[in-house]
Amino acid sequence: MATTIKIPFPASKTIFIWIAAAYLLAGVNGACAQAQQTTSASAARGVFVVFLGTGMPRPDPQRQGPSLAIVVNEKAYIVDAGTGIVRQAAAAYERGIEALRPNALDIAFLTHLHSDHTLGLPDLILTPWVMHRTVPLQLYGPIGTQAMADNIEKAYAEDIHVRIEGLEHQTTTGHQVVAHEIQPGVVYQDANVKVTAFAVHHGSWKEALGYRFDAGGKSIVISGDASPVDSVIKACSECDVLIHEVYSGDPGSAENAAYFSSFHTSARELGEIAAKARPKLLIVWHYVPLENTSETQMAEEIHKNFHGPVIVANDLDVISP
Ligand SMILES: [Zn+2]
Ligand SMILES: [Zn+2]
Repeated sequence: MATTIKIPFPASKTIFIWIAAAYLLAGVNGACAQAQQTTSASAARGVFVVFLGTGMPRPDPQRQGPSLAIVVNEKAYIVDAGTGIVRQAAAAYERGIEALRPNALDIAFLTHLHSDHTLGLPDLILTPWVMHRTVPLQLYGPIGTQAMADNIEKAYAEDIHVRIEGLEHQTTTGHQVVAHEIQPGVVYQDANVKVTAFAVHHGSWKEALGYRFDAGGKSIVISGDASPVDSVIKACSECDVLIHEVYSGDPGSAENAAYFSSFHTSARELGEIAAKARPKLLIVWHYVPLENTSETQMAEEIHKNFHGPVIVANDLDVISP
C-alpha cells in the first residue's frame, strides 16, 4: 500500500506527507484509515517525523543508515547520524521540507555510539558547514560523544584548514561541535520541544539512550537500539508515537541468539512492550529480518500482543502523530 497525502504547510505552501510503502499491519484496513487521519491533522500544526535512514549495519542499497528528524515549527531535531544523512536531508528539502535544508541542520541527539548510528557524523559536522552553516553543531549524546567529535575534527584538520584559509573562505565557526554528554532526564528544552533522555540496555554498551520528544502537544518516543527494557514503556506511557527497533526470525546459532537477545528486541518482545506502553502508533525502524522473514510475519509476531496500528518506516517517509 502506498499513500500520498497533500497537506497545507505552512499556510501558504504545500508539501506532501508520504506514508509511501508504509505498511500498516494491524487489522489492516482499519488501522490504515486511522493513521491517515492523524497524519494530515497534526502535520498542519507542524510536528512530524522524517525518516532519513531506516537501515541496519548491512549495506542495504534501499536503506540508508539509521537517522531521523523530528520537525517542529520548521525546525529539525536530528536523532542519530547514519550513513547518507545529509544527502537524505537534502532529498527531503527538495520535496519541500524547509527545515531539512542542509545548512539549517544544527542540533542532533545520539542514542549511542555504534558505528551504524554515527558513520554520518562527519557528514553532519562538515557538509552543512561547507554549505555555509555558520553556527556550531549542538551535539547531545552519551559519554564518548565529546571524544568522537574531537577525533573527527582531528581527522579532518587539513580539510578544515584548507577550507578556512584557502579560497573557499569558510567560517571558523560552522564546523565546530558543541558536545553535550548527557545523563537521563530532561536534556534540552526550547520554545518548540522538550527532550528527555532515558537509559536503555543495549548489550555490552555502558551507556545507550532513548529519547522522548514533547512538542506541540504530541509525544514521540524513540527507543534507540535496545533489548527489552521497562524505561521505554515508562517513557512512552500512551505516547502518540513509539519508534522502536526490532528483529524477527530465528537467529540460528546459540551465539547469534545470545547476541540478539542481549542487544536487540524481537518482534514478539516488541509486541509485549507496545501492549504495556500503549502508543497510539507504533513505528518500526532499524528492522533486521533474519533469514528473510517477511514484514507480514514480523507484524504477526508484534500483533500477538499489541493490537494497535504498526508502520514499517522506509527512507524518506514523513509521518505525523
Ligand atoms: Zn547499536
Ligand atoms: Zn543499530
